[in-house]
Parts: sequence; C-alpha cells; structure tokens
Amino acid sequence: MSNQEPYLLTPGPLTTSRETKEAMLRDWGSRDAAFIDINRQVRAQLVDMAGGGDAFTCVPLQGSGTFAVEAMLATFLPHDGKLLILINGAYGHRMVTICDYLGREYLTYETPEDTPPDAAEVETLLKDDPAITHVAVIHCETTSGILNPVGEIAEAVARQGKRLLVDSMSAFGALEIDVAVLPCEALAASSNKCIEGAPGMGFVICRTDALEAAKGNAHSLSLDLHNQWAAMEGNAQWRFTPPTHVVAAFHQALAEHAAEGGVAGRGGRYRRNCDVLIEGMKALGFVPLLPETLQAPIIITFHMPVDPAFVFQDFYDRLAEKGYVIYPGKLTVADSFRVGCIGRIDETVMRGALTAMRETLAEMKVKDCGPA
Ligand SMILES: *Cc1c(COP(=O)(O)O)cnc(C)c1O
Repeated sequence: MSNQEPYLLTPGPLTTSRETKEAMLRDWGSRDAAFIDINRQVRAQLVDMAGGGDAFTCVPLQGSGTFAVEAMLATFLPHDGKLLILINGAYGHRMVTICDYLGREYLTYETPEDTPPDAAEVETLLKDDPAITHVAVIHCETTSGILNPVGEIAEAVARQGKRLLVDSMSAFGALEIDVAVLPCEALAASSNKCIEGAPGMGFVICRTDALEAAKGNAHSLSLDLHNQWAAMEGNAQWRFTPPTHVVAAFHQALAEHAAEGGVAGRGGRYRRNCDVLIEGMKALGFVPLLPETLQAPIIITFHMPVDPAFVFQDFYDRLAEKGYVIYPGKLTVADSFRVGCIGRIDETVMRGALTAMRETLAEMKVKDCGPA
C-alpha cells in the first residue's frame, strides 16, 4: 500500500469515488449560471430523497454536520420553546452543549449507549411537561452505531402535538426516512457521510411553513437557516461564499447515489459490507457491542480485546500501513473501537480489511480477541 490512499473505515470523512474527487478540479464562480443550476438540483434531489413534496425545502449550509445541527436547533426552537433531547451517545450530548450555548431550555431523556429510547417513555415525558415544544432525536447514534426508532418516536411526538427535529447525519441516504409519512419538522445531515461527498457542507430538510414561522429565532447570522433560505430563494445564490468545490463534488456524489438505486441501493451495499464485516470479525474472535436487531449498517462497535498483546494504537497503526483506517471508540459503557462500513467501499474492501486484521493480529501475537 505505498501509492494508494488508505480506505477510510470511519464515521467520516469517508472514501469517495474518483469521479467525485475529480468534480472538484474546477473553479466555479458563485454567480456562475452553471453553478447556480447545480445548487438548485442538489437542493431538489435532497428533498426528493427525504420523500418531501412541495411542503418541504432544503437549506444547505457551509460547515461540518454540527453546524447544520446547531443551525437547525437555533432556527426552529423559539426563544420561549423547550427541547426534549433523547440521548444515547455523544451526538445527543452535543445537542445539550448547543442548547447551553443558545440559552434554550431543555430536558434530557438519556438511555445507555447500547439502549434505544423508548417511544412510550417519550410520550410520558411530553405529557408530564407541557412546556416542551420540540423533541430532538439522533437517527443512527454514530457513537455506538445504534439505530434509534425514529418512526415510533415521531408518532409519539406527533400524538402529543409536538414537533420533531432529527439528526440523521450518519443515516440519511442509506436508511429510509420518508418525511411524507414520518411526521418531522426538520432533519439535518451533511455532505460527507452516506451520500459520499467531500466534507464541508451540511443541510437541513424542513417544512417550508415551519421555516417561515422560524424567522427571527436564530441568535447567529451565519447559522440562521431562515435567512440563508430566504436569500437563496431570492436570487438562487448563497448568502456568503459557497463551498463551490464541495457542492460540485456533492452533485456528482448524488448522481452516483441515484445510479446505485437511491437509498435502497446504497443501504443494500452498506448492509452487505456490515454483514461481511461482522461475520469476519466474529470469526477472528471479536465481539460486537450491539445485538443485530439494534445495529445500523453504518459503523460497528467492537469490544476491546483483553489479551495484553492487543495494543489498540499498534493495531491501528499497522492496519493503516496496510491501507485501512479504523476508528477509536468513544463509549462510556465499554472499552471499544469502531469499524465503519460506509463510503465508496464494497465487500471486497471489507474482506481486504479482514485479511489485514488477521495478519496484524498474527504479527502482534494476539491470541484471544474476546473482551473481559
Ligand atoms: C458525523 C455526525 C455529526 C456531525 O459531526 P461533524 O463532525 O460536525 O460533521 C452529527 N451527528 C451525527 C449522528 C454524526 O454521525
């Protein structure tokens, strides 16, 4: 592996196609008619992907995914609103930090990292605290790779007449989310996860009427989605310098997503990657954190082996040298590491990674990959 870039088996940024990278080999003027057309197509394709019809719009935003989540909370939560935050990992905790910065009221409902929130419990919390106006949920909590039951949560929230905000960052484009049937006010995602674009742009897909009603809520000019949207609707341009290369690459990535069969095709490939990975890792003796029923085909958390010969940094470095970059864990429930199965990679790459792991374990003289 000397002259080929390593495969990124991480939560993002991810391995992208050559064509997606090549789309960045051109400088676009922000007022260039061709760029404006690309931008218009990207927004429309994202609304379609979410199943949003005329009632929905897409607001792209410069920055990483967190910028989009922060902009979503800042824009949709009124100053006298109150957010119920469902937490089972780092991204739920990040929403708490965001609300602290924003000075918005919130209540948290936290479950362990290997436990999804319970929709009935959400409903009870909403009944008990009528001040709550919105609920925020993470679709796939990338901290563990758990799939949260957004459909059930959405129904519970709608039954109580509250509004739902979804962080679908690591799921959107690979796991079905249809806003036409799943009641939701807004969902946030980014360019560099399951749609396999370059990093640098987030986006929020939301109900246009809710966005119109959100005028004046945001504390920050740059993160005001209403202002970003109103300006873009007005002259089809971004308010401030657009990440032109990232948008162009994303446009190419969206074409590849459609060619692969959309969400079903993309999700199917990730599912096969996930199955090959879990089966191969189990054969090596590793133990996944989550039962299959809770595991999203996005990123898989494995327990850290107890064998003293297994030193994670050494394992990581040796794998990277062989062309595969994995990811440390950030769980509190267990010492762990993660292997992603998203990005421009297929079963052959996953098998290559498994072979590299087998060789690395032999080099390190690891005998037992089981946890404590
Ligand atoms: C990646 C991710 C984010 C955003 O992270 P950034 O590092 O800001 O791109 C937010 N939520 C979830 C669930 C994610 O996986």
